[in-house]
Amino acid sequence: MSDTGGGHRASAEAIKAAFNQEFGDKYEVFVTDLWTDHTPCPFNQLPRSYNFLVKHGSLWRVTYYGSAPKVIHQPYFAITSAFVAREVAAGLMKYQPDIIISVHPLMQHVPLRILRSKGLLDKIVFTTVITDLSTCHPTWFHKLVTRCYCPSNEVAKRALKAGLQSSQIKIFGLPVRPSFVKAVRPKDELRKDLGMDVDLPAVLLMGGGEGMGPIETTARALGDSLYDENLGAPVGQVLVICGRNKKLASRLLAIDWKIPVQVKGFVTKMEECMEACDCIITKAGPGTIAEAMIRGLPIILNDYIAGQEVGNVPYVVENGWGKFSKSPKEIASIVSQWFGPKADELHAMSQKALRLARPDAVFKIVHDLDELVRQKSLVPKYSKT
Ligand code: UDP
Repeated sequence: MSDTGGGHRASAEAIKAAFNQEFGDKYEVFVTDLWTDHTPCPFNQLPRSYNFLVKHGSLWRVTYYGSAPKVIHQPYFAITSAFVAREVAAGLMKYQPDIIISVHPLMQHVPLRILRSKGLLDKIVFTTVITDLSTCHPTWFHKLVTRCYCPSNEVAKRALKAGLQSSQIKIFGLPVRPSFVKAVRPKDELRKDLGMDVDLPAVLLMGGGEGMGPIETTARALGDSLYDENLGAPVGQVLVICGRNKKLASRLLAIDWKIPVQVKGFVTKMEECMEACDCIITKAGPGTIAEAMIRGLPIILNDYIAGQEVGNVPYVVENGWGKFSKSPKEIASIVSQWFGPKADELHAMSQKALRLARPDAVFKIVHDLDELVRQKSLVPKYSKT
């Protein structure tokens, strides 16, 4: 994986936790950022470069679409391999893996080149777990993988178009941490722990692992729309998760709010934050969307990263369990309607989200991986030298 955004790590941790839950200590799972930990400078700066590029939309658009054609990215990976192969190979072989699971679009080409050059392609199971829900970059797809786990039919169609065989593809859904599947504590208990009001309806406001998008303006608009001037009292509350965006958190903490607003940095118990709320406003991050579905949270998408998140907007809106708007005022008005006269719409959307959620995806993925490992377990892997 690599820490470009929060979704790849979340999926890697989900797979690790599911292996542990389903198979105990039969597997030892290492989560590693191949680029940061096992390549020389400047290649090890990948997460920093990504975070810079996505915050400057047009730069990211050029990078994403410019690198999409095979004639561009294949030679790029070939050249990159020449510089990083030795360290990446050492990084991979350090673990003597039975199976390699990539949850990142830039983790197919170089590792597979290395396995091929070492004659290990038939001995180590190499799989890709795609963590985008709809539109996704072509570098996710590589014909040499044993398995490509696609979270949706849309992604599977893209995999077929990229030349993978249907026998390589499985569609189970996006892997979400097993803690989302278990029952969580009652809402009022969670709200107390999070410092929230126990009774007021609550909206969760976030922007992925990096706290991206118009969070501050949206929080301010909610501060107005969820305060009833006639009653002189709040009619709703906000829980803001800023992720790794520390500047945003300190700006929000300095505001004197008319309604209850809780501001958090990077949280590790996202399932509890979601359960404490009644709906969510977020950029179109696939991890957050899949998690919100499992918790039955209607969603308002306020932004998306060009390229990989574009397709998540129709995925949510056309399935009828969310809305899209870039206007903080309009979003704030939707939330106050949901917490007032349009409570039925909120309830209906919540039911739809629950119906379409795939909480078992991560378990199906690890069981299939286990089966693949067992099929290969008779083949001797590494020489004794
Ligand atoms: N996340 C988290 N704690 C935070 C903020 C985000 O655990 O404080 C997780 C969130 O639950 C989700 C992931 O980070 O699993 C964000 O992934 P997503 O695909 O939504 O967006 P990305 O950050 O990758 O752009």
